Amino acid sequence: MTGRQADVIVVGAGPSGSACAAELARQGVDVLLLHDGTHAVDSVETTQPGATGVITSILGPVLGPPHSTVPGARSSWADPSLVETDFLFDPSDGAWAVERRAFDAAARDAAVERGARLVSARVTSVEREGDAWQVCAADGELFGAGFLVDATGRAGAIVRRLGARVERHDGLVAMVGEGCPGPDARDGTLVESVEDGWWYATTLGDRVSVGLVTHADLLPPAGERDAVWRVLLGQTRHLRSVVSVNEDVFVRTRRADTSVTEPMHGDGWLAVGDAAAAWDPLSSQGLTAGILLAGRAARAIVAGSDALEEWQDDVRMLVEDTVGLQREYYEMETRWPDAPFWRQWERLD
Ligand SMILES: Cc1cc2nc3c(=O)[nH]c(=O)nc-3n(C[C@H](O)[C@H](O)[C@H](O)COP(=O)(O)OP(=O)(O)OC[C@H]3O[C@@H](n4cnc5c(N)ncnc54)[C@H](O)[C@@H]3O)c2cc1C
Repeated sequence: MTGRQADVIVVGAGPSGSACAAELARQGVDVLLLHDGTHAVDSVETTQPGATGVITSILGPVLGPPHSTVPGARSSWADPSLVETDFLFDPSDGAWAVERRAFDAAARDAAVERGARLVSARVTSVEREGDAWQVCAADGELFGAGFLVDATGRAGAIVRRLGARVERHDGLVAMVGEGCPGPDARDGTLVESVEDGWWYATTLGDRVSVGLVTHADLLPPAGERDAVWRVLLGQTRHLRSVVSVNEDVFVRTRRADTSVTEPMHGDGWLAVGDAAAAWDPLSSQGLTAGILLAGRAARAIVAGSDALEEWQDDVRMLVEDTVGLQREYYEMETRWPDAPFWRQWERLD
C-alpha cells in the first residue's frame, strides 16, 4: 500500500461530500476528504423551508451571515399574476438564501472540525487492488482506503468509471448568469414560467443569481447564448424588475435534469449528492436532500450492506416522488400548449 491511507476516501468537497465526511468522522471513521480546490457552484441558492434542522444536525452551525433567512417565495406559474408563498405559515422554520462559496467552505470546515482530514487533490484515476482502493491525484499523489465515496456532483467522475449509468428523467438545462438587485428585488427566489421554460432569480444582499431553465434541444447556439438570454430576460413580466444584468454578462450552461445513478453503490463504493441523484432546480432540494442523504449514507457505510440497500431504496423512492410532483407542476402550466418546451414535457407521459 502506498500513499496516505484512511478507512474511507470521499472524493469531492461540495456540500454532500463534506456532509458525508463530517458524519463518517463523527461515527469514528478515519476519513480523507479530497477537494479539487474549485468552486463547482458559485451562485446564490435557496434551501427548502425547514432545512435548518437537517443541515445543522449534520454540519453544525453553518447557517448564519452571509446567508439569510427568507420569509417566502414569489412565483408566476400557470397564471400571469405574481403569487406569494409565505413560509411564516409553514409549521417548520423558513428557508435560507445561501452564498454557495461561503456555504461550501463552512461545510468543509465542519467536516474538519468533526475529524475528517481535508486534502487538496483532483482525482484522475481510481483502481481496486484486492479489498483496497488506490486513488491517484493529478499531481501524482496516491491515497488508499477500503471504501470510496463519489461526491463529485453531476459529473459522477468515479462511479461512471466503475460502470454506473445515469438515468435522466427529463432533458432540462439551465442558462445561468449573475446580476445586481433590481427595484423589486428582495432576498429569496422568484420563479416565472415563460414560453421557453421558466426563469428563476435568487437574491441575497447585493447578488442575484438568475437562470432560464429550458430543454437541451431548445438551447440557442453557444455563440448566441448570452445575447438571446438577455433578450428573453427582458421579455419577462416580473423577473426583469428584480435583477439588473450588465451588457457583458457571461451565461453558463448547467445540466438541470432530474436524474438517478444506477446503481448508487457497489462493492466498496457509493455515490452521494448529485453524483447519486440530481433534481430539477424547481424543487430547490439539491442542497437539503444532498446533505440529508449524504449523512444517512455515512451511517449506512458504517452499518453495512443491508443498510446500504435500504439507503439506496430510499433515494430511489425520493426520486420517484420528485418526478411525480415535478410532472404535476409542469402540467399545471397550460398557457403555451404548442410551445416545444411544454409539448416536450407532455411527451414524457
Ligand atoms: C440552475 C441550478 C439551480 C439550482 N438551485 C438550487 C437551489 O436554489 N437550492 C438547492 O438546494 N439546490 C439547487 N441546485 C442544486 C445544487 O446546486 C446541487 O444539488 C448541489 O450543488 C449538489 O451538491 P454536491 O455536493 O452533490 O455537488 P457539487 O456542489 O457539484 O460539488 C461537487 C464537488 O466535487 C468536486 N470534484 C469534481 N470532480 C472532482 C475530482 N475528480 N476530484 C476532486 N474533486 C472533484 C467539484 O469541484 C465540487 O467541489 C441548483 C442546480 C442548478 C443546476
